[in-house]
Amino acid sequence: MQNYDVLVVGAGPGGSSAARFAARSGLKTLLIEKRPDIGSPVRCGEGLSKEWMKEGEIKPNQHWISDEVKGARIYGPSEKKPIMLTAEKAGNEVGFVVERDKFDKEMAALAAEAGSDIWVKSPALQVIREGGRIAGARVRHNGNMEDVKAKIVIAADGFESEFGRWAGLKSIILAKNDIISCVEYRMKNVDSDVDFTDFYLGSCAPAGYIWVFPKGEKEANVGIGVTITQMKDRFDVRNYLDTWIRKHPGYAKGRTIQYITGGVSVSKVKEKITLPGLMLVGDAARLIDPITGGGIANAYISGKYAASVASQAIEADDFSQEMMSRYEQMVKEKFQKKHLRNWIAKEKLGTLSDETLDKLVDVLSDVKVNDISVQAVLQAVQEKYPEMISELEDLI
Ligand SMILES: Cc1cc2nc3c(=O)[nH]c(=O)nc-3n(C[C@H](O)[C@H](O)[C@H](O)COP(=O)(O)OP(=O)(O)OC[C@H]3O[C@@H](n4cnc5c(N)ncnc54)[C@H](O)[C@@H]3O)c2cc1C
Repeated sequence: MQNYDVLVVGAGPGGSSAARFAARSGLKTLLIEKRPDIGSPVRCGEGLSKEWMKEGEIKPNQHWISDEVKGARIYGPSEKKPIMLTAEKAGNEVGFVVERDKFDKEMAALAAEAGSDIWVKSPALQVIREGGRIAGARVRHNGNMEDVKAKIVIAADGFESEFGRWAGLKSIILAKNDIISCVEYRMKNVDSDVDFTDFYLGSCAPAGYIWVFPKGEKEANVGIGVTITQMKDRFDVRNYLDTWIRKHPGYAKGRTIQYITGGVSVSKVKEKITLPGLMLVGDAARLIDPITGGGIANAYISGKYAASVASQAIEADDFSQEMMSRYEQMVKEKFQKKHLRNWIAKEKLGTLSDETLDKLVDVLSDVKVNDISVQAVLQAVQEKYPEMISELEDLI
């Protein structure tokens, strides 16, 4: 039997953040990870924005950065003039391409430095309940079953999160439209541009996109995400990516050194992400941005929020639903508005024809990103393609 103030399940960015900030506020904290090697195997495009790092108290470090880009380019189906999101225009939304395994290890190291215990190769297998609340987990550790009792449990166990379901948060079921199936090749000998992350929209990746994230000279992550309702069989996603690569000589000549698959949720934020004694963070709480599919930053920030509520709860000796709802409130205030807007945009973009997407990219490539207000976009569409106004009305 082990006793902790806080037990964190899962050592991705969300869990490492929760453990770091809980330990830093003086709580006796344990971070457990089922895999033997934190951050590995990588299942990620490895794109990372910058704007959250101040709040997350992360200093960029060359150890885990493989490329710092100047901007992002968004191409329509005909791949003519892209929308340019340069660092000046897009603020800090544009950022780094990282080595995700090194990044995740570094985040866990920050938790360790703050004083958290860490157990790897230690899956949580069962929820421990006590006095009407979640009070720990049964964990396999060093071949033994350990009951880890904790005043607060933070579940950061990712997209397939089981812990929340075991605890009784049954509502975390996704609509098929809200799941993206991804395939990615890490490729050598390609003609990617080290200064830009590139995104390709349209029927090349139905209701999703293709990405090219540079990892230094001649190397890039070339990946695709497709909404699963658009797939006829499970090989579809890879076929779409292979078809796109074949059409682009600068990538067709490349060689794959790593092959990655994975699922991403692109849903609204879940209504209920807490129970007495339990908070879900990151992907487990469905905090991935529905438009970009990026979730590292949101996971890290939500981990910090969960740790702060854990600290308040322990200080007040109050593990009630009301106390846990403080975390829900913080998450909603931070993410919900943008998340909902992006979810609506994602739903709409997935229905547009290649022709309409081309026109939209054409219009937006002329609008200064600083000016991407409803009025600016409407005016630009009205001037160039007045026939599109009615089709885009709900999106705009
Ligand atoms: C193909 C793909 C590409 C992506 N590309 C990007 C990108 O470019 N940029 C971006 O920002 N995001 C990207 N994402 C999303 C990003 O990876 C996630 O949003 C992010 O990892 C969420 O962090 P997390 O801590 O919530 O969960 P995770 O990083 O998934 O961590 C969860 C951890 O919990 C562990 N775990 C699970 N169950 C248990 C258990 N029972 N006991 C103990 N440990 C357990 C897991 O092993 C895992 O280590 C991508 C995702 C995929 C699949």
